[in-house]
Amino acid sequence: MLKTCLDCGMEVGLNTANCPKCDAEIAKQTDGSIFRCDIAHNRETIPQALAKLSAVLDAARLEHVQGIRVIVGRGLIRDEVMRQLSWLKHSGEIMGFDHDNGNTGAFLVTIRGGNRH
Ligand SMILES: [Zn+2]
Repeated sequence: MLKTCLDCGMEVGLNTANCPKCDAEIAKQTDGSIFRCDIAHNRETIPQALAKLSAVLDAARLEHVQGIRVIVGRGLIRDEVMRQLSWLKHSGEIMGFDHDNGNTGAFLVTIRGGNRH
């Protein structure tokens, strides 16, 4: 499986850090797209919801997505997801997160910032 360097179009391996042709940082490239994931739709338990969050983050890292809109609903899952996202931000795995347009039932998680050159 390959992905494409957004700067020069070269096909590179999934785990390539820098494009061998133009030296762009592949992991930071984004096409500006946003994943959407509802992790509190079906009465998930907190561990199930966090596992879904983890899975969608993994999937997003394999794509050029800029971020993920995570629907958390209200209540305990939302609190635990916020705690998890805080930790991921602290450890550098995501760039940041915020309430989606003031909607407290959803977070907009920024995976990468699109600092292309
Ligand atoms: Zn390139």
